[in-house]
Amino acid sequence: MGTDAGHDLRMRLEGVTVDFGRLRALDAIDLELRAGRSLALIGANGSGKSTLLNVFAGLIKPTSGRVSPAPLPPVAYVRQHGPEGNWLPLTAGEVLRMGRYRSTGWWGRFTDADRASMADAAGRMAVTDLLDRSFDELSGGQRQRVMIAQALAQQPEVLLLDEPITGLDLPSQELILQMIEGETTKGTTVVISTHHLDEARHCDAVALLARRLVAIGTPDAVLTPAGLREAFGPRLLGDHTHHRHDTELLVLDDHGHDHTH
Ligand code: ADP
Ligand code: MG
Repeated sequence: MGTDAGHDLRMRLEGVTVDFGRLRALDAIDLELRAGRSLALIGANGSGKSTLLNVFAGLIKPTSGRVSPAPLPPVAYVRQHGPEGNWLPLTAGEVLRMGRYRSTGWWGRFTDADRASMADAAGRMAVTDLLDRSFDELSGGQRQRVMIAQALAQQPEVLLLDEPITGLDLPSQELILQMIEGETTKGTTVVISTHHLDEARHCDAVALLARRLVAIGTPDAVLTPAGLREAFGPRLLGDHTHHRHDTELLVLDDHGHDHTH
C-alpha cells in the first residue's frame, strides 16, 4: 500500500482537459494508472467522474493534453446502470457472451478459452444460475453482476466501473468489492467512480475530483475533512468521515444517482 513501486504504468494522463462547448468538464488532469492497483474517483454529481472514465476508455478525446500509451491497453468498461427495464430482449447468458465477441468476432465460434473465461467470470459474480433468465427481469444487483461478469470475461488490463455499487443490495455490493480486490491481486488496474466514502476506502488510491484533481493519494491522505470540503463544498453535511458503520457514509449529493447517461 502507498507505493507504486513494482506496479507497471498502464496509462498516463498529462494535462488532460475536456470541454463540452463552453463547459470545462475536466481541467488539466495529471494522473497515472498502475498495474495491480485500484483507484476510486470520488466527487459530486457533475464533477467529471464519468467523463474521466470515458477518457480512460478512449471514448472521449481530450480537448487538450495527452493520453498515453497509444494504442491504449485493453479496457473493459461497465457504464453507470440505468433505470429499470429498458434494456435489450436478451438472456443474461447472451449479455455475458457479448463480452467475448471482441475475440471471436460477432459470428465467430467460441473456443474453449472463451467458454472457460465466461464460466469463470459468471462464477465469480455468482450469476451462473441466472444465465437462462431474461436480462430485463433480473434485479438491479443481478443485472449489474452480469454486466461485470461480461467485463471480466474480456480479461482486460484496465477495468472501469462507473458507480458500480450505488443502489445495489448488500450481497451484490460485497461481491463487487471482493472482486475488485481479487482483480488487483491478478494485476488488473481497476478504476471505480463513487459518491461513497466507504467504497473509496476499499481502493489503493483515491482521486478527489471537482472538474480538476483536488487531491490524489491513499484513502487516509485524501479523505480528510478539509479535502472533502474543498471538493464538495457546503453539500457535505457534517463530518461523517470517521463513522465507518454509518450506512449514510456518503457524501450528500443532489440525488443518489442520475439517469441521464
Ligand atoms: P459525474 O460523472 O461526476 O457526475 P460527468 O463527467 O458526467 O460528471 O459530467 C461533468 C460535466 O460535464 C457535467 O456538467 C455534465 O453535464 C457535462 N457533460 C458530460 N457529458 C457531456 C456531453 N456529452 N455533452 C455536454 N456536456 C456533458
Ligand atoms: Mg457520472
